[in-house]
Amino acid sequence: MQIFFPKEREEEKRVSILPETAKKLLEIGMHVEVESGIGQDLFLSDGLYEGMGIKVSKDRKTSLSSSDIICRINKPELDEVAVQKKDSLHISFLDPFNNTNLIKKFADSNIISISMELIPRITRAQKMDALSSQANLGGYAAVIEASRCLSKSFPMMMTAAGTISPSRVFIIGVGVAGLQAIATAKRLGARVEAFDTRPVVEEQVKSLGAKFIKIDVGDTGETEQGYAKELTKDQIKIQQEGMKNICSRSNVVITTAQVFGRPAPLILTTEMIEAMQPGSVVVDMAVSTGGNVEGSLPNKVIISKNGVSIIGLSNLPGEVASDASLVYGNNLFNLINEYWDADSKKFSFDLDDEILSKCVVTHKGKIVNKLVMERI
Ligand code: NAD
Repeated sequence: MQIFFPKEREEEKRVSILPETAKKLLEIGMHVEVESGIGQDLFLSDGLYEGMGIKVSKDRKTSLSSSDIICRINKPELDEVAVQKKDSLHISFLDPFNNTNLIKKFADSNIISISMELIPRITRAQKMDALSSQANLGGYAAVIEASRCLSKSFPMMMTAAGTISPSRVFIIGVGVAGLQAIATAKRLGARVEAFDTRPVVEEQVKSLGAKFIKIDVGDTGETEQGYAKELTKDQIKIQQEGMKNICSRSNVVITTAQVFGRPAPLILTTEMIEAMQPGSVVVDMAVSTGGNVEGSLPNKVIISKNGVSIIGLSNLPGEVASDASLVYGNNLFNLINEYWDADSKKFSFDLDDEILSKCVVTHKGKIVNKLVMERI
């Protein structure tokens, strides 16, 4: 069985598989191919892959059309789906609720597709959970980016030349990214406050030594997967009012709020930004799903009228691309290995399996995923 890892698009700094992870696939009996130049942004030469026994392909189209499994980080172009073999498997992030044409193309071309976003949040699937592995590094990178942009140190310093106060950091949204952002800002010595609509995270925030901000927005709740439910317009208004004061006293605000399968909620309005101190920094981690911050733009730093920098990096895990590639490749390996039958050397599909039933989107010419069917 042949598995192929094409090079990602030019602006992607991460690599879908590192040489040592590719070797693990070889060891379970797969024929592994990577596209020539796959690791160039991380200074990983073709020779490093070849040294592990991996075939390096100089002909992307042939490898795409002859492989049984194709793995990527980002979704493929439609014309590249068309060249894939019938009944072959494609695994990557697909953003399935916003890419109807792509999902239909997979179904029409009889390609089995797995969406990495849809790996369920259950214990058995933790080792395959790429949303978490990437969000964790994204949370770290957001704090590092903010500290680079801020003209103030994070820790308090008492020196003969005067006392420097610690920076105040406010984290909005305490999922995987938010927790890592809190931990990173604390390690750097900042005073950290955090808010989430799910009250259950209060304990987690406190256990990291940060202060949980309580704003009573009424009934919030969470889905059975642990995701936040969308707030009503009135609830968002209450949240914004409650946060205005905290934002105005913060040197850094990092927003990570997401509602699964829906556009990110708009939380920081221009009015709230205008109430912040000049020189403060905002990082909008939700910029690529609609944005939590009014005026933020993907891959731009916008300076507001009152001198607040609004950072909108859409690929924060890519800022620590080496580690992000390592853990993403491990997620892929763990997924494939879970369903790899070493005797028949085949990937076995049981669509009743609790993980596959959630993350397989198309199979045998049909859209088979319930959530995707409901939303597209
Ligand atoms: P996410 O990226 O969907 O959202 C980030 C955070 O934003 C969430 O904590 C959410 O509650 C919050 N949020 C949404 N609307 C908000 C608003 N208006 N204001 C403030 N915050 C808002 O979340 P995630 O990081 O993917 O985590 C989702 C859940 O899944 C969490 O409970 C997490 O602990 C859980 N999880 C479980 C596992 C597992 O294997 N059991 C693995 C990973 C994550």
